[in-house]
Amino acid sequence: MTQTASDKAPLAPATSTTGHPDTDRELLSCHDPRTGELLGEYPVHTAADVADAVARAAEAGQWWAALSFAERRQHLDQWRRLLLHRQDELVNLISAETGKPADDARLELVLVIDHLHWAARNAARVLGRRKVPAGLLMANQVATLEYQPLGVVGVIGPWNYPAFTPMGSIAYALAAGNAVVFKPSELTPGVGHFLADTLAQVVGERPVLSVVTGYGETGAALCRSGVAKVAFTGSTATAKRVMAACAESLTPVLVECGGKDALIVDSDADLDAAAQAAVWGGMSNAGQTCVGVERVYVVEAVADRFIELVTARAGRLRPGGEPGADLGPITLPRQVDIIREHVRDALDRGGRAVVGGPESIRPPFVEPVVLVDVPEDAAAVTDETFGPTLTITRVADADEAVRLANASRYGLGGTVFARARGDELARALRAGMVAVNSVISFAAVPSLPFGGVGDSGFGRIHGEDGLREFARAKSITRKRFRVPLQPMTFDRGSRTVRRLMRLIQLRYRR
Ligand code: NDP
Repeated sequence: MTQTASDKAPLAPATSTTGHPDTDRELLSCHDPRTGELLGEYPVHTAADVADAVARAAEAGQWWAALSFAERRQHLDQWRRLLLHRQDELVNLISAETGKPADDARLELVLVIDHLHWAARNAARVLGRRKVPAGLLMANQVATLEYQPLGVVGVIGPWNYPAFTPMGSIAYALAAGNAVVFKPSELTPGVGHFLADTLAQVVGERPVLSVVTGYGETGAALCRSGVAKVAFTGSTATAKRVMAACAESLTPVLVECGGKDALIVDSDADLDAAAQAAVWGGMSNAGQTCVGVERVYVVEAVADRFIELVTARAGRLRPGGEPGADLGPITLPRQVDIIREHVRDALDRGGRAVVGGPESIRPPFVEPVVLVDVPEDAAAVTDETFGPTLTITRVADADEAVRLANASRYGLGGTVFARARGDELARALRAGMVAVNSVISFAAVPSLPFGGVGDSGFGRIHGEDGLREFARAKSITRKRFRVPLQPMTFDRGSRTVRRLMRLIQLRYRR
């Protein structure tokens, strides 16, 4: 059924975000990528609309920031219960807007719930006011540290995990006491509205979380709107534009970009488990996962057997639009050309397809493609493919695997399958997160920070670091009593600093 922004209330009330009626406004259309069915139309918000949304969020944010951690937790816990209560609606919406199978949408919801719970539960412990040691020189002071909210945080989200990925910023920013203005991808505006509208129900309709919809220009307007911080997830190219726009007003940014994550298989690995992980890591969500596996480096001694196992598993997978399909479609239509080009280039340059090939690309679906013998400088090895493809490269040993894995401008996640050297190899990978003997598991551990290095971005969502990312440290010293040695006054005696030096020597010279 086709819905417009104005008849979708309460999910997408025409005036929910900006206060302006939506007549005569440009609309963006949202389609089911499996069928092309029109799902809804949403306003293309202008810079003035975004400014309006940020102003309203700032007001709501003052109320939210003034609550105690315990009060905010109550609201966030209530939101979590409401999301669970309305899980079918959210799952259907995620499935319809991205095309992903219902169980994958459910998995996304599970992760949203777990992270929301963790952020709400741990905010007081991580950010709350505490005493810290004042040190020898300032022993007469009480030193306290707390992390205060930034104000309004702008979140710019992607379409591949339209609930889980932005919630990595939204849940943590809210738990830290900020208001959030969220610009979802133009492909997934309905999920954004669902999140905002369900939270509104538990906070008396205050726009603590509001949504602006539109294309890149709406996102750019959010960067220039004077928000206290922007949290962006998407491509490296767009991240640079986001940073440039934020630089104009010295707005800090957190950027989570793509990756070219490698999976390493050492000679003592459980090969069946490694093959299962490579296929899930590379093909689930049709390969549209920032921390998905894109490259595999397997030690020569076990390579033939490993490739056999991957081939058998990947060859069984079927993409489709039905709820039980293994993979959904490629959500972003123009991504199909990138996948096609990576496969074609790899084959032209001497690679071989052991599963699928150019004929696997049947828009909007792409069947699994597994490539071997691809040169290390081919786009299929260097650039983010974001499709259900894997390259498998044979290496002499795990050290060579680490060297090749690290020779990437990206550095988001990684995977190691090994018995003896698992932790050692994981620590040697230039990546923000690594799973040993499982795949992508770090993203489901709420206490672990998530983020990359190099072209994969910087800053961290999730975990304690993810809470602190949306807060500023506030340090306070309070004098408890007067001490005889007072070096920081013009009234100090001539010997004060020399006495201080003696004290320091006694304390620190050894
Ligand atoms: P983009 O990086 O272009 O978009 C991400 C978000 O940024 C969207 O909400 C987008 O809005 C918004 N945006 C676009 N231009 C601007 C701008 N100038 N200022 C502020 N915000 C802006 O990603 P795409 O969706 O186009 O995907 C392209 C590639 O990015 C993929 O092929 C994949 O490689 C990578 N990607 C990585 C993701 C990850 O999880 N790290 C997620 C998604 C994509 P709108 O959608 O309305 O244009």
